[in-house]
Amino acid sequence: MTHEALANQKELIEALIASLRETDEYLTEQTQVIEPSVSLGRLTRMEAIGEKAVQEHVQALNQKRIIRLEHALDRIEAGNYGLCPVCNEEISAERLSSVPEAVMCVACMEKRAKS
Ligand SMILES: [Zn+2]
Repeated sequence: MTHEALANQKELIEALIASLRETDEYLTEQTQVIEPSVSLGRLTRMEAIGEKAVQEHVQALNQKRIIRLEHALDRIEAGNYGLCPVCNEEISAERLSSVPEAVMCVACMEKRAKS
């Protein structure tokens, strides 16, 4: 991968992390403990709890992606970003632009999924 392509990936990853963190903060605000005394309007308490569970699930997925993206930044720093550790081939630019945190190339990932 060229130096320029790497710099672009880094920007892409940093922007993604920033927007995921914003979502995370928003969800944290939304999932504050539901106080029994709080008026929930039309929502019943049970509905509010169900919604909270969904938000917490989305938040957990978000946080996992942030961690994977941070690991990708580490790989950029270490100089092994975009190299599949299984076959040592470069991961396609196409895959890295849609999944910048990808660790393995598509071929190796599919092999692993089948085994
Ligand atoms: Zn591979």
